Amino acid sequence: MPAQYTHTARTQAALGSYTLCLIDFQEVAGISYAVFWFLLLILALILFFAVPPRLRRSRRARLFAEPFPQSYVEILERNVPLYRNMPPELQRQLRGRINVFLNEKSFVGCGGFEITDEVKVTIAAHACFLILNRDTNYFPGFSTVLVYPDTYLVDEVVYDGEVATEGQDARSGESWHLGPVILSWQDVQESLADNSYGYNVVMHEFAHKLDEENGDVDGVPALAENSHYREWSDVLARAYGAAGDAGASCENQVLDEYAYTAPEEFFAVATETFFEKPSRMKEQLPELYGQLSRFYCVDPAAWGSS
Ligand SMILES: [Zn+2]
Repeated sequence: MPAQYTHTARTQAALGSYTLCLIDFQEVAGISYAVFWFLLLILALILFFAVPPRLRRSRRARLFAEPFPQSYVEILERNVPLYRNMPPELQRQLRGRINVFLNEKSFVGCGGFEITDEVKVTIAAHACFLILNRDTNYFPGFSTVLVYPDTYLVDEVVYDGEVATEGQDARSGESWHLGPVILSWQDVQESLADNSYGYNVVMHEFAHKLDEENGDVDGVPALAENSHYREWSDVLARAYGAAGDAGASCENQVLDEYAYTAPEEFFAVATETFFEKPSRMKEQLPELYGQLSRFYCVDPAAWGSS
């Protein structure tokens, strides 16, 4: 008992001292204890949300300005026909964007495929055409690009309303929501072979990545101004519906018929066409070209041969 009594007395003394300290602090600071911790929490939140973006911006600015290896320039000139046609200022900007992209995204070879500088620079370049001349967060929410040597098989179940059938689907590329981009290198190379063909699997899958930045993958990416959404929806809905009515498989149709399978595919295929066949698209679908030009902040029809 004596020992316990002593212990209790010392504890009370310590608490009394602690309370006095708090009272002293309250007097010095001139604010209540609760307000102090509230302000500390606000400061912590500000630091948590404000500092990382500032650090990221400065890191990206440093990467953007870093020298671009001559061997990478040779890859661009060899593999990226659009690069040769674009204005020098945009070429410089594209090289800076590629520097950042290569720093932030990792590449993984699948099915025995070996990732080389040629693979990385070629894919990064085509992705970065989609983020020129505007604020960008470099395709946030994912970090890995998986590359197969050729088309790859994916197990799938097709349900026709009554019967579910298991099978395999051969794919050239896909974009998982908030997950990796998957590409077939053989198909990437086919995209490069003839830029008037209009097929570009890298731009297609990264257009889906832009589309998912504001939530649903629905063919409506995050536009620069709120006032742009109405016009975007009107023009794309008109092009999607009108071309489908006229027969999407028509030989003169500038967009691949796959565009008419869903609004999100329409946006992705239109993106490919906007960069790969800009003059034809501007001539046949000027309203759609105008919307994409405003969204992507470039005018590839003015870049030279297209
Ligand atoms: Zn698609």
